[in-house]
Amino acid sequence: MQYDAIVVGGSFAGLSAAPYLGRARVRVCVLDTNAPRNRFTDHSHVLFGHDGSDPATMLDTMRRQLAAYPSVQLVEEAAVDVVQERDTFVVHLADGRAVTGPQLLLAFGITDILPDLPGVAERWGRSVIHCPYCHGYEFTDRNLGVLASSPLSVHQAQLIPEWGPTTFFTDGQAFEQDAIEALMARGVLVERERAVGLEGDGPLLSAVRLADGRSVPIDALYIGPRYRFSGDLAERLGCATEAGPMGPVLKVDEMKATSVPGVFAVGDVTRMGHTVTFACAEGVMAALAIHRALVFPKVAA
Ligand SMILES: Cc1cc2nc3c(=O)[nH]c(=O)nc-3n(C[C@H](O)[C@H](O)[C@H](O)COP(=O)(O)OP(=O)(O)OC[C@H]3O[C@@H](n4cnc5c(N)ncnc54)[C@H](O)[C@@H]3O)c2cc1C
Repeated sequence: MQYDAIVVGGSFAGLSAAPYLGRARVRVCVLDTNAPRNRFTDHSHVLFGHDGSDPATMLDTMRRQLAAYPSVQLVEEAAVDVVQERDTFVVHLADGRAVTGPQLLLAFGITDILPDLPGVAERWGRSVIHCPYCHGYEFTDRNLGVLASSPLSVHQAQLIPEWGPTTFFTDGQAFEQDAIEALMARGVLVERERAVGLEGDGPLLSAVRLADGRSVPIDALYIGPRYRFSGDLAERLGCATEAGPMGPVLKVDEMKATSVPGVFAVGDVTRMGHTVTFACAEGVMAALAIHRALVFPKVAA
């Protein structure tokens, strides 16, 4: 089926672009597999007017509101391949269908690669968290831990004492003495034993269990997970990327255009700081750029 624009990923970034395109009466197809990155939590914080709202409810509301725009079609299907045929992108869906259009917006998000520590996955987004601004306030003045899990973990551990007493778990890894001294200057306790598991009822955390048999009481454990793109469509198209400290970043200009003409990208795939607010704002910017490209194709090129 032929559209003016195809959006791959119908979460905060993609669904922020869709109403702008719908209101411009652009024929747009939004493909989505309904697995937003923050699906592990019931509360999303620091979004204007929605602090603490359930992210799934926010997305459901947006989908319902999009029904007001007949030129917007939501399709619950995965995009599995894309090819460029002259000025048109052909996006192949998992069910064998294909949709086509001259403008493509990539908003398929990223997938966190959690540390392989027993107890982390089932507490992710509840008591194992990554962002103090998103979920740290709820653990103010409790026992906080930071697990060494990325190149930025020392930096993260220096920040977290703003919210409460903090222990840095090196997990048996070696750190420069400078880093250890910087942590101690912030009042951070450094625990050098390897972590072997987490304790606590259900999604709650009560302690980090160490290889020597000790358990350190901890109520919230911060990790800084590495990530990968949630799909390979950008690679298939040849979009330029750069390596960030935690994972790849799709290169875009200020209008959210990638290095491939006609392909735009927004949300977590395009930046290192990841929030719903940034994703929404970028979706709006890309929608305006896509509409402009449809109306003034030569100027946009
Ligand atoms: C545990 C956790 C808690 C968080 N809490 C907060 C918070 O409190 N406040 C805040 O501002 N931010 C929070 N974030 C960050 C926030 O979740 C992200 O910044 C935001 O979801 C990014 O939106 P996005 O649209 O770019 O990507 P996503 O929300 O990840 O959406 C990508 C969408 O694309 C779909 N998709 C993927 N591949 C395909 C494909 N091939 N075909 C079709 N569809 C596809 C997915 O199913 C998904 O629906 C949190 C993140 C995590 C991990």
